[in-house]
Amino acid sequence: MPGFEIFGAEEKKEIMDVLDTGVLFRYEFAEQRKGVYKVRSFEEKFAAYCGAGHAQAVTSGTTALKVALTVLGVGPGDEVITQGFTFVATWEAIFDTGAVPVFTEVDETLNMDPADLEKKITPKTKCIIPVHMMGAPARIEEIKAIADKHGIPVLEDTAQAAGASLNGKKLGTFGACGTFSFDAVKTMTTGEGGMVITDDEQLWRKMSEFQDHGHDHAQNPGGRGGEGRSFIGLNFRMMELQGAIGLAQLAKLDSEIIAPQKKNKAAMKAAVAKLPGVTFREVLDPAGDNATFLAFFLPDAATAQKVNGVLGENGAGAVYFAVNTWHYYPKWEHLLAGSTLAASGWPFSGPDGKRRVVYDPNVLPQSAAIMGRLLVYQVPVKLTDARLAQISSAIEKAAAAIL
Ligand SMILES: *Cc1c(COP(=O)(O)O)cnc(C)c1O
Repeated sequence: MPGFEIFGAEEKKEIMDVLDTGVLFRYEFAEQRKGVYKVRSFEEKFAAYCGAGHAQAVTSGTTALKVALTVLGVGPGDEVITQGFTFVATWEAIFDTGAVPVFTEVDETLNMDPADLEKKITPKTKCIIPVHMMGAPARIEEIKAIADKHGIPVLEDTAQAAGASLNGKKLGTFGACGTFSFDAVKTMTTGEGGMVITDDEQLWRKMSEFQDHGHDHAQNPGGRGGEGRSFIGLNFRMMELQGAIGLAQLAKLDSEIIAPQKKNKAAMKAAVAKLPGVTFREVLDPAGDNATFLAFFLPDAATAQKVNGVLGENGAGAVYFAVNTWHYYPKWEHLLAGSTLAASGWPFSGPDGKRRVVYDPNVLPQSAAIMGRLLVYQVPVKLTDARLAQISSAIEKAAAAIL
């Protein structure tokens, strides 16, 4: 799964370029920096890699969502639709704009179910965020068609799918914007960091200024220039050290991260296929999978739990997302309880102190049926023969237990 497995001389060299100048800030310091602009160069290379017109680096995948939602004009009074299987960051960012998150079912792609999306669109819907969970695409073409019919922009949360594609087109380039995370456990990492890609130059120019306190970047797109300000901003600037690491990781993404993961995933899949009644996640384009996870279904929840018990006893337990408190709607107890630090109860209550949204844990029955049967292995970049043998032997024991 993570890029940290392959840190090496390349990352060190890029970092030393920055330390040699002593300039850690991405803007200004023209004299001292000797032409070194790591964040800017990371943005340009990341955009080119994705086949997107522009890229804006920020501090995290969460702030990438926040910046993208903001430049799309989302705010209080709006609804934003996302899926009930995602990391909490997706809806944290929605709340932070003042909008209210609305959750859809997932289908066997483990991503947004387009049929349920259609049912959840209201006149208040101002953005749709499909999440490409665990390295493989949502039904993004169908989702985009539905969104276009209603004139609603699509923002792809691509935090878990860097380098993945659908029919030759990189994920993150189908919607108005695509966001990425480079946190410590993502496919490629800068420790902390994020990116927004877009083909829309106006959106990109707004992002560039918004994440830099509203500094005027008009004369010098992607960098500072003028002294005026067109709108209020915030600070989500990436540091040069992160940009440096990003350049090294991006250069390795296809050949040293995704390629070995594909090989390892195939080997793990062959082992898992020996479980009686097992089926696999619907991956719309196996060639474009970034192969960070192997997701499989047992015939029912009881069997999935029994299998995972045996796998765990034999040192090869899988993730059972049905009980995962970070990624699955009915387990987000703070969302369900409306827990917040704001004395007014915001964002669950409005400015008038009245509760404006209540989340019922039972509203996604289709997702519950799917998640209950689901087991997931992370696919490492480096898989030793000994570890593969351990997984295979655990699977054989689990298979025997459910025969
Ligand atoms: C990791 C993640 C994020 C947030 O990224 P951070 O860089 O950790 O803030 C957002 N969405 C999804 C789906 C993620 O997995």
